[in-house]
Amino acid sequence: NSEEKRYIYMNGEYVTEEEAKVSVFDHGFLYGDGIFEGIRVYSGNVFRLKEHIDRLYDSAKSILLDIPMSKEEMIESVVNTVRKNNLKDAYIRLVISRGKGNLSLDPFTCHHPQVIIIVDKIKLFNEEMHEKGLKIITVPTRRNTPDALNPKIKSLNYLNNILVKIEAHLAGVSEALMLNGEGYVAEGSGDNIFIIKNGKLYTPPSYLGALEGITRQAIMDIARRLGFEVLEQPFTRHDVFVADEVFLTGTAAEVIAVSEVDGRMIGNGSRGPITKALLNEFQKLVKEDGIQVYPEVHQTAI
Ligand code: PMP
Repeated sequence: NSEEKRYIYMNGEYVTEEEAKVSVFDHGFLYGDGIFEGIRVYSGNVFRLKEHIDRLYDSAKSILLDIPMSKEEMIESVVNTVRKNNLKDAYIRLVISRGKGNLSLDPFTCHHPQVIIIVDKIKLFNEEMHEKGLKIITVPTRRNTPDALNPKIKSLNYLNNILVKIEAHLAGVSEALMLNGEGYVAEGSGDNIFIIKNGKLYTPPSYLGALEGITRQAIMDIARRLGFEVLEQPFTRHDVFVADEVFLTGTAAEVIAVSEVDGRMIGNGSRGPITKALLNEFQKLVKEDGIQVYPEVHQTAI
């Protein structure tokens, strides 16, 4: 239950939630200067942890943030934090802020990046939402352009995405689509989009303004393995409206069908057969492809 004590990893130590404090001079707090990852643990398997860590270090390199540990140490810290919290199914939030500096924007006044790993239980979309699919809208807020703040960087500056969430909520839906500056479909506030037309899958190329989602990649791998053609190709709202199936992917969202976009019913208005087949394969993959937190337990179980 939520009363359970959680251990939070902060710069090499485990602290309680009450003790886990960051300075008001931290540039992550002042300016959103930092990076993060959201990772899932399924039955003791940290799904595609190496890929998440690679993306984290790529984000860090892009914003000239020196992570004070190696990738191997980071992987170990993530695994140990999950183990310390004794969870088998969990959501991991890995945050690295620029650290404490002065009130200027200057990141060179910050000398100690803060490395924080939070592990908690996760509430899934319930089965009914998965079966019925989500009703979504397209919002007026456009995706950050790659030449401004590149959406490939998983930065702590999520205001673009938060504005999308606000617009979605004001319209009475829980998720929404962003277009890029040219009007092509980019992604959701916290997930990637796929459309299916005549048995082919399409997802926007990341250069249009989408995060290179780990779930997106997993779905492309699965779909190709199942024999589907997958194309990273620009498309418009019209293509979404007339698609046979539409679904969103993300660490939190997993693989969730979309039943309606801007008032247009997608397919027959419920989760389509290909989405269902991909989700089934995804649910197997998430327990196998990654790093086991409790290898001893895993081995005696088989
Ligand atoms: N796009 C955005 C903007 C996101 O925040 C996320 C969630 N990390 C995704 C897509 C999905 O990426 P992933 O599958 O790696 O969680």
